[in-house]
Amino acid sequence: MRDAQGRTTVHARGGAPLRLKYDAAMVPANLFGLEKGGLEAAMEALGEPPYRARQVYSWLYRKRARSFADMTDLGKELRRRLEAEYELRWPEVVERSLSYDGTRKYLFRLEALPGERTGPATVESVYIPEESRRTICISTQAGCPLKCAFCLTGIAGYKRNLRTWEILGQVATVMEDAPARELPWNIVVMGMGEPLLNYEATVSALRVLMDPEGFAVAPKKLTLSTVGILPGLERLMQEPVRPNLAISLHAPNAALRRALMPVEEKYPLESVIEAASRYPIPRGGLVTYEYVLLRGVNDSPAQARELVRLLKGHRVKVNLIPLNPAPEIPFRPPTPEAVEAFCRVLAGARLTVSVRRPRGQDILAACGQLHLRHGRAAAAEPVPVS
Ligand code: SAH
Repeated sequence: MRDAQGRTTVHARGGAPLRLKYDAAMVPANLFGLEKGGLEAAMEALGEPPYRARQVYSWLYRKRARSFADMTDLGKELRRRLEAEYELRWPEVVERSLSYDGTRKYLFRLEALPGERTGPATVESVYIPEESRRTICISTQAGCPLKCAFCLTGIAGYKRNLRTWEILGQVATVMEDAPARELPWNIVVMGMGEPLLNYEATVSALRVLMDPEGFAVAPKKLTLSTVGILPGLERLMQEPVRPNLAISLHAPNAALRRALMPVEEKYPLESVIEAASRYPIPRGGLVTYEYVLLRGVNDSPAQARELVRLLKGHRVKVNLIPLNPAPEIPFRPPTPEAVEAFCRVLAGARLTVSVRRPRGQDILAACGQLHLRHGRAAAAEPVPVS
């Protein structure tokens, strides 16, 4: 039986509704997205032993089955009951764009949640093939509430947090659609939204991604990017398994950062740098600082020197990102000479520095170009993902 939230109440054979350990009294209808505890409750509701949950978990995330019928070691009867009581659903892909450079962008249409009046939201994920690895960039919110002045996602507004299954479903969809190549996966939480403002769903998804019995992505191959939401950052440090950390800095001082990123008011850069310096990086790596270069705004050699003073003494690397332009973004990309000069100042001060090459710019898949789409654009012909 479904309630208004689309959840299923499970009844024991002919009896009263069972009380489940998970989620008070109910298990969500869609099993995709549940961690082991949730799956155990779902199995218990069917009168099945807990080890069944491990089998289903492996089918969902390691083998990425598309239906209960695929779960061949479960027995016909159990598969039939799973099909009757539950769903196995990934978010719906409505558009797939291919870039000349091999980058692929996926547009997902989400379900409207109860009470959502403006229709279903959309989110985007990006697949980026490289020589020695392939990267998936995933979203954690539909839109973003932070309103950074140079980011199209923020300019287009905020809709809602994604749920765990909507985050994991992006990864599963992109992995299954990717050309078969024996290259390691790299996942960056750098798509739409601020992951630490959607803490529970994001961290639950990260656990499943990093679990050797789940997607089995090594923690050092997973990077979460944040503007530095301090309470979230402190919590993340306490998690037993953590991803790499990237901090979106974008300015060498508080005054300029405040002008570009309203969040500076609430979480000032000095506190963010201090907190990030305590973050335990997998395998003794470095915290990444992302710095979008905006022509004539934050790209001068003097500002590079200021950035050196700010970060010196911390175990960091700096990732310079020449602005990816869009008509709605009121800034211009830096000149190649400015990028070069900025980079030289940092390298000269023995900071580790890299320049991010834009990927998929022609399909608006590059950093900061993902944005909410409503109505017609989002309702394009479905694309078969095989
Ligand atoms: N909210 C998180 C996750 C998004 S990450 C965060 O801000 O870190 C997306 C990265 O792309 C961030 O570093 C962001 O600042 C950067 N970015 C945003 N707009 C951009 C643009 N127009 N060009 C290049 N990079 C941009």
